[in-house]
Amino acid sequence: MKGIRDGVKDIHDGLKAYEGRVAATAGVGKDLVNEPMIRHWCEAMGDTDPAYAGPEAIAPPTMLQAWTMGGLSGHTGRSEAYDELLALLDGAGYTSVVATDCEQEYLRPLRPGDAITFDAVIESVSERKTTKLGTGYFVTTRMDVRADGELAGTHRFRILKYAPAAPGPKASGERAAKRPRPVVNRDNAGFWEGVAAHRLLVQRCGDCATLRFPWLPGCSTCGSREWDAVEASGSGTVFSYVVMHHPPFPAFDPPYAVGLIELAEGVRIVSNVVGVPYDKVRIGMPVRLEFLRVDDELELPVFRVQDGGEG
Ligand code: ZN
Repeated sequence: MKGIRDGVKDIHDGLKAYEGRVAATAGVGKDLVNEPMIRHWCEAMGDTDPAYAGPEAIAPPTMLQAWTMGGLSGHTGRSEAYDELLALLDGAGYTSVVATDCEQEYLRPLRPGDAITFDAVIESVSERKTTKLGTGYFVTTRMDVRADGELAGTHRFRILKYAPAAPGPKASGERAAKRPRPVVNRDNAGFWEGVAAHRLLVQRCGDCATLRFPWLPGCSTCGSREWDAVEASGSGTVFSYVVMHHPPFPAFDPPYAVGLIELAEGVRIVSNVVGVPYDKVRIGMPVRLEFLRVDDELELPVFRVQDGGEG
């Protein structure tokens, strides 16, 4: 049974042969870099940086991939190697796919009028890995993007092609799935420290005093990285909500309401609305913060509907 895991064979050697092969060749951007696309992007992102407007405008660097996209009609000229690689994986039982991450480098700014060309290569195929999703291979492609023939940036894109993990045997019928754990990192650790102390903390810009939530490294109003944290009063209203019916996630019991709560301080937070059935949540309901102990390790801020909020 060596080499077999989750019922699928290790085909790493066959996959390795695709490293360095062309994934897309001599691609041509459908449009020159242009002001309307830049403007739409900035509006969609809420990015008002003056560098992206006016006669000296450059394109936002993170638009790099946008200039190479094929749109609904697609691109011609994709090489067969990438399709072959995916077919090989499918044939061996690694039939599922998830995009895992992308990584970009910017070598020179793109400006309106630049003509975009690109090539992509299958840069690497990982050893076989077992993840929570299942067993499979990470496939990384690297696209080199050129502007008027000059290398302007690279775009690495990674997928995991995998055989879905079989649902494990239920350990003596119990161990209900736990709610997902928050991802705590250096940018949001202060928020979770606040939750542990039953305080809902909101960031305040050290320069322009704009409040922000969720936690971010910088101020989206003035760009400053200086900040402190202020404690929210805990009162708010339901700004919007959805009722989740499908898909069912482990540890959640649909249908349930997910609320977007507008705090009295003006910032909004996604949370559970408690104290009323899912179908009685309404926009504008007054709510008040409380902390819900979910399990031994996890507490979460939730919002309880206040008297007068129902009906
Ligand atoms: Zn600011």
